[in-house]
Amino acid sequence: MSVNYLRISVTDRCNLRCTYCNPLGACDFIAHQEILTFEEIQRLVGLLAECGIRKVRLTGGEPLVRKGIAELVRRLAGISGIEEVTLTTNGVLLAPMAAELKAAGVARVNVSVDSMNRETYRQMTGSDALSDSLAGIDKAIEVGLTPVRINSVIVKGFNDSPEQIDALARMSIDLPVAVRFIEYCPTGPHPALQDGYVPNSEVRRIIEQEFGPLSPVSSGDRDGPAVYFKMRGSAGTIGFISGRSSMFCQTCNRLRLTSDGKIKPCLYAAPAYDLKGPLRNGAGDEQLRDLSRTIVRGKGQFTKVNSALEELKKFSMQSIGG
Ligand code: SAM
Repeated sequence: MSVNYLRISVTDRCNLRCTYCNPLGACDFIAHQEILTFEEIQRLVGLLAECGIRKVRLTGGEPLVRKGIAELVRRLAGISGIEEVTLTTNGVLLAPMAAELKAAGVARVNVSVDSMNRETYRQMTGSDALSDSLAGIDKAIEVGLTPVRINSVIVKGFNDSPEQIDALARMSIDLPVAVRFIEYCPTGPHPALQDGYVPNSEVRRIIEQEFGPLSPVSSGDRDGPAVYFKMRGSAGTIGFISGRSSMFCQTCNRLRLTSDGKIKPCLYAAPAYDLKGPLRNGAGDEQLRDLSRTIVRGKGQFTKVNSALEELKKFSMQSIGG
């Protein structure tokens, strides 16, 4: 599998406080001066592009709270070798920014929505912002940040009832979107959510009970582990990302760059390389290119199988961008 996809967490700050995403607590923010600048990100992506990275996804925290994010998109989209810049957002700030992001070079967006019920959304995210997020999805479709994918993490006791799951799935009937169910991965030490896992086989059973059998469709998903299906007569698709119940290390093409400049080659492994250190200590392009090459070539050694599951207790998704 060639390693051609880089997820960049541009900030660990977020305008939501999702219970399952940041179990370590929101106060452990990285100091501003430790966060990579746009110039640093641009330089690293340029070098990684020379080593095979073709697609970049901006994530967070919440990428839209990073000031000047459209300018960063413009810089990255202009790098030779980078074919696609995409973005994962909670959508709350998306509606007013969508046109500018599209013009800057964002190809498409993934929007996280865990419930179509206003109160459940508020409980899960700490914010009464469901309508803003849905407005962001509509605007994204309108300006062509498509295909829009909706990411929903199902957590036991919050949004795992048939009503909740069906309401999320129903979005794919009316809208040309992919609604993707992501298995909850318990990170951090927060005990209350450790048993929040709901297998996607159960989510699928619930959907099929309401809407009938799902038919497989070829993914059209060029950068992910999602498996896609369609309900009869629907405008969009349903996807399942089963990171917990299945194994897709052989097809994993991604690297993660944290907002403070570390590379995490596998979700289940500790950050393995520091790029910010050499970058700020005056490393030349040749040295950084060698390191980038080592990172890309070495990716295969890091898999869920040989990484310590203990690692999951040490970070929050908010810090690495999902
Ligand atoms: N703020 C943006 C957003 O909401 O999409 C980007 C960052 S967020 C960390 C990226 C994705 O990771 C979201 O879809 C979120 O639901 C997912 N996520 C966060 N914590 C997770 C967990 N413990 N298990 C599975 N997915 C998680």
